Amino acid sequence: MVADDLVWGFVGHDVEASLTSAGLPMHRERFNGIPTAKEVDRLVEVIKTTGADVAIAVGGGSTIDAVKAAGFLAGIRWANCPTVASTDAPCSALSVIYTETGEFSEYRFFPRNPDLVLVDSQIVANAPVSLLIAGVGDALATWLEARATSRSNSTTMAGGLPTLTGTALAQLSWDVLWENALPAIDAVLDHQVTPAVEKVIEANTLLSGLGFESGGLAAAHAIHNGLTAVPQTHGLAHGQKVNIGSVTQLVLEGAPTADIRDFIEFTTRVGLPTTLTEVGLQADDIASLTTIADAATVPGETIHSMPFEVRSADVVSALASIERFAQHVREDAKLPKPVPYVAHH
Ligand SMILES: [Zn+2]
Repeated sequence: MVADDLVWGFVGHDVEASLTSAGLPMHRERFNGIPTAKEVDRLVEVIKTTGADVAIAVGGGSTIDAVKAAGFLAGIRWANCPTVASTDAPCSALSVIYTETGEFSEYRFFPRNPDLVLVDSQIVANAPVSLLIAGVGDALATWLEARATSRSNSTTMAGGLPTLTGTALAQLSWDVLWENALPAIDAVLDHQVTPAVEKVIEANTLLSGLGFESGGLAAAHAIHNGLTAVPQTHGLAHGQKVNIGSVTQLVLEGAPTADIRDFIEFTTRVGLPTTLTEVGLQADDIASLTTIADAATVPGETIHSMPFEVRSADVVSALASIERFAQHVREDAKLPKPVPYVAHH
C-alpha cells in the first residue's frame, strides 16, 4: 500500500483494520510526493524486497501514477484506491512522470489498465473541495481534446485511432459536469454525498479516464505540460493548469465567442482559474509565455493532434489573449476579480 503521510493519517487505520480482518498481510510504504523516475525505481525495490504481489495506490493522481509505473516495472498486479477525484489518472494505462522540481518529464505507457479502481465516495467528499474542483477541470478538457483528436483523426493515448465509444464517453463526461458540477461542489463543501457528487466522481475518474485514453489528448494537456516548465505555476493542481489549457485551446481553435465565454463563465463559477493572473503569470511576460509555448509544442506533444498546425508563436498569442478576455467575461457576469497566484517554493 503506497500512500503519503497525510492520506494515511485519514484512511490508514481503516485500511489496516480491514486487511487484518481479512487475514491479508500488508506493507505500507510512504510516497515521497512526486512521481519521478527515481521514486518509481525506489518503489520497485520496495516491491521486490517485501515480495509484494499487488501494489495498491491510496491517494491522488501523483501516488497513483508512481504505483502504476512501479507495479508494471516489477511485473506484479496493481490497483488504485483514489481518495480524491482530482484527476483522471486512476483508470488509465499510462503514468505521467515528472522531474524532481515538478516539470513534466514523460508519459509512460503500459500494456494494460489497473486491475481494480476502488472509490469510496464518502472519503472523496471528506477531502477538501478544491481537489474535486481540480478534477472537474481535468475532466472538462477531455471532451475538448477528444473532439479535436476526432476531427484530425489523430492517434489517441491508447495508441490507435479514436473510436466512437471513446469520443462519446469524453462528451458524456462534459455533459455530466455541466449538469452536476456546481451542486456537487456545494454538497462537498459540507462533506455530503449526493447523486450529483456520485456523478461528478464518475465523470472525473472513469468517464474522463476512458475518454482521454481512447478519445485522445490535444492542446489543453500539452499547454498544461508547458505550464509546468515555469516555476510560477508550481504548486497548482493538475486540473487548474489544464483549465488554462482548455481556455487557450478554444482560442486556438477559433471557437465561437459564445462558447469561449460560456466556458470561462462556467469554469470560473466552478472555481477554476481562467486568467493568467490566477496561475502566477502575466500577459506581457512574453519570455515566460514563450518558455511555456515552446514546451507545449515540442515534437511528439499532443498539441500536434489538433486538426491544424500549431506553432509556438500561436500558443503565446492565445495564452496572452485570455487574460483580458476572461477578465471582461467575469465583469459582464458579475463574477469576482481574479486573485493573483504566488507559487510557494
Ligand atoms: Zn489530465
